[in-house]
Amino acid sequence: MTERNFDFLMPSVNFFGPGVISKIGERAKTLGMQKPVIVTDKFLESLPNGAVAQVRRSLDAAGIDYVIYNQVEPNPKIHNIQAVKALYQANQADSLITIGGGSAHDTGKGAGIIMTNGDDITKLAGIETLKNALPPLIAVNTTAGTGSELTRHCVITNEETHYKFVVASWRNMPLVSFNDPTLMLDVPKGLTAATGMDAFVQAIEPFVSVDHNPITDSQCIQAIKLIETSLREAVANGHNLEARTHMVEAEMLAGMAFNNANLGYVHAMAHQLGGQYDAPHGVCCALLLPYVEEYNLIACPERFAELAKIMGENTDGLSTRNAAELAIKAMKQLSEDVGIPHSIKEIGAKIEDFEHMATNALKDGNAFSNPRKGTKEDIIKIFQAAYDAK
Ligand code: NAD
Repeated sequence: MTERNFDFLMPSVNFFGPGVISKIGERAKTLGMQKPVIVTDKFLESLPNGAVAQVRRSLDAAGIDYVIYNQVEPNPKIHNIQAVKALYQANQADSLITIGGGSAHDTGKGAGIIMTNGDDITKLAGIETLKNALPPLIAVNTTAGTGSELTRHCVITNEETHYKFVVASWRNMPLVSFNDPTLMLDVPKGLTAATGMDAFVQAIEPFVSVDHNPITDSQCIQAIKLIETSLREAVANGHNLEARTHMVEAEMLAGMAFNNANLGYVHAMAHQLGGQYDAPHGVCCALLLPYVEEYNLIACPERFAELAKIMGENTDGLSTRNAAELAIKAMKQLSEDVGIPHSIKEIGAKIEDFEHMATNALKDGNAFSNPRKGTKEDIIKIFQAAYDAK
């Protein structure tokens, strides 16, 4: 048996289940929050009984004052985090409540980072670069998705260079997360598919990562099983509370897994597509997944053969290589079934961008845990395979 040492980072408090959102006012009071900035977008703010409305009711009942920033954008930009910081300081706020998907959480985290670690977030890209913790942050999650509500990552796009980068640090963890599946019942099909595929990739990449450990393995296995059985149903019938609940469980497990075992080239490359073309993150991940894993397969065929079994494929009597290939086939099938496009052409990718996107992908913190070490030329070939896909 191989003896292994590892440290394992867990978020502090996580509320989970239908209806838990009503507890946020009391929890904010317990934390001593007196004036949080709510970080969200106009659409979520406009829903009469959506997450923002329910959080406001609960804060009002607890007698907590707040201000709202409602300009979160998908693939959040540096100007978004600066605007939150300005609003926070102008109102002498003392905490943050992010409401939405990964973009809202990363906007809130990014604002917290520049309030406590210096104004230029581009200098903080990388792993464990933060010296100070964020102001208290509660993350209310509304997509089953990114895991950002409980991870140490913050993903921001530099709007001038289109470079999307990650700041990863244990000091960047939300204090409390809320995952209430009733807030996700009306997520449209396309967004359910994209965010669900993001969670799926976030369970696959840590499973084959060089940093995986027995705890992250068990989280990945359970997340993959839940996604394999529930994502199609959640896309087909958004009001199926059981399927939505399973997807939330899966995204939380995957979030905890990649918080510790890290990701790989899918995320390193997806960040380039998202930054360059402002494309939805989950779609970028799903489009790249089979081509990155075809490339990775020879580095750890046994892990891929195991993945095939976890995804319900019959591998009896097959060689490790043939079983491993079934895992890639199953990934493509899931993507197809939930309606993800086939080629990165469909999100506007251009061949002339591959070279600089490949250079930046190899600098992304997620690249370091990929099971196979590639060159810039290898990454360009993977972009090309995802471009040529039919
Ligand atoms: P998102 O936060 O960008 O939201 C996409 C859209 O969905 C928005 O227009 C929003 O209004 C809408 N939406 C959100 N909740 C909804 C609901 N309940 N009903 C209807 N519409 C709803 O999407 P996302 O996929 O959750 O986040 C993507 C971002 O997160 C990317 O920038 C990605 O890089 C980042 N990310 C961060 C981490 C991390 O750990 N920090 C991990 C993975 C991805």
